[in-house]
Amino acid sequence: MKIKFLGTGTSHGVPLIGCNCKTCKSKDLKNKRYRTSIFINDNNTNILIDTPPEFRLMAIEYEIKKIDAVFFTHAHMDHIAGFDDIRRFNEIQGKEINTYSDKKNLKEIKKRFSYIYEKTQLGGGKPKVNFIEIKPYFQFKVNNLKIIPLTVFHGDIKVIGFRIKNFAYITDVSKIPEKTYKYLENLDVLVLDALRIEKHPTHFNLAQAISEAKKINAKRTFFTHISHSLEHGKTEKILPQNIKLAYDGLEIKI
Ligand SMILES: [Zn+2]
Ligand SMILES: [Zn+2]
Ligand SMILES: [Zn+2]
Repeated sequence: MKIKFLGTGTSHGVPLIGCNCKTCKSKDLKNKRYRTSIFINDNNTNILIDTPPEFRLMAIEYEIKKIDAVFFTHAHMDHIAGFDDIRRFNEIQGKEINTYSDKKNLKEIKKRFSYIYEKTQLGGGKPKVNFIEIKPYFQFKVNNLKIIPLTVFHGDIKVIGFRIKNFAYITDVSKIPEKTYKYLENLDVLVLDALRIEKHPTHFNLAQAISEAKKINAKRTFFTHISHSLEHGKTEKILPQNIKLAYDGLEIKI
């Protein structure tokens, strides 16, 4: 299984509009962060988790040519704003794209993309998608690949984490409920939200993310959804050995 980080930035992206800080002005490409998304390839199955505003740029940059399923972690704009560009995959693949999330998030996503269901003149392209409801802790399959959706809390709202084989992806989280830890045992790779140095009401800060990573104890942990407060090189130096900051374009094999 291959995991590609398409974007590792928080909702503003990095650099931030109008910011002159060292991270935002850095020439190091690891400090350039699109909004958060990953692409998973296992044999012939390709899964995209979230469609940020830069989805089109990501698909071009990383030469994504086929998507079997889109998973949405939640309906915040930094995770869904690029969804309309799924149209190009409708053309390439000649069919609807299966799109998965839980009941509440699907409702929100359908509301934000309500034009998909509106009758309009022919020619104005609209995404063609099958929305499929998943339930936390109930396994589902894409082709032959088994996936377990998990619940985590992002402030008060429920966000979906995903476990696939010995890999787990958890972004936009400030609390992991007790039940979810059971599904995070024996991981080779964990991807976890680590926003910034200071505390935040709806995201783990760096210290919380490190402590959660140690508790979950995956062989390797990569942090994502990173703000400009975490300069790549400087932050890497203070992280424990098996914990790294992810960066855009990073590919890992499991
Ligand atoms: Zn987010
Ligand atoms: Zn900045
Ligand atoms: Zn969010």
